[in-house]
Amino acid sequence: MSSGIVKVFKFGGASVRSAEGVRNLANVINRYSENLVVVVSAMGKTTNALEIILAKYLDNDLSYAVNIASLKKYHLDIVNELFNRIKDLEERNLDLLFTDLETFIKTNKNFDYNFCYDQIVSFGELISTTIVSAYLNTFGLDNTWVDARNCIKSDATYREGNVDYKTSLTLTKQIFDFTHERVFLTQGFIAGTQLNTTTTLGREGSDYTAAILANLLDAEDVTIWKDVEGVLNADPKLFKKTCKLDFVSFQEAIELAYCGAQIIHPKTIKPLQNKKIPLYVKSFIHPEAIGT
Ligand code: ASP
Ligand code: MG
Repeated sequence: MSSGIVKVFKFGGASVRSAEGVRNLANVINRYSENLVVVVSAMGKTTNALEIILAKYLDNDLSYAVNIASLKKYHLDIVNELFNRIKDLEERNLDLLFTDLETFIKTNKNFDYNFCYDQIVSFGELISTTIVSAYLNTFGLDNTWVDARNCIKSDATYREGNVDYKTSLTLTKQIFDFTHERVFLTQGFIAGTQLNTTTTLGREGSDYTAAILANLLDAEDVTIWKDVEGVLNADPKLFKKTCKLDFVSFQEAIELAYCGAQIIHPKTIKPLQNKKIPLYVKSFIHPEAIGT
């Protein structure tokens, strides 16, 4: 059995936007033998695509069906590239999730924007984690898929759920039982209410999920795997010359986040700071590099 150490990894949408990204993720996971909690966002621009579907749905614009079809194709293409023999099975699992989405749209009677937002947009993470978990299991990286809504509990403030740490602590400790499994994979961004409706934690909330789980599980550290070498002093899309920072204090990270530097979700810091859990930002392309 492995040590009691738990590490939390977070992979954002950009890092799992393609089959190659999912393979990269597997390479990163393969380098570690500790207990791992892997938090994954929706693939690529899926969250934005689901926001458009939601807007059309609430607008009674039936062309949302076209958007759903293209979102499904995007994911199917990734599944087809990742799986050979069990492709059909994985396609069926994907079908089931899209059927759930369509069923919600057809049967829902509550048209509150924020409520619908969370019920619809959360599918991005449910779909991505289903695909990534199956991929890892197929290629020898045994893991258990966890529905984050069963362990991170929030109030019913849709789109900005307030996490109930006490309930979440009990559930998280029960569900992430490292005596039986070494690697758990779950969704960022989403949580569940006591009545089991879905909530979300704010855009880019997957970092926050990683921090919450690290706090609840007393993790050794959190690593956010990104397509940059680490935390940069400026946005490389806006500035030609940027340099990587080796170390950033939590206070500086809060300031950078509020200054709009898109490194980490501002809410991420507190759950880590409270327990003095270090946060690393590393490159999934060069996993051996030091990062920040
Ligand atoms: N998928 C969500 C978003 O794009 C959460 C995240 O990626 O952190 O906002
Ligand atoms: Mg994202």
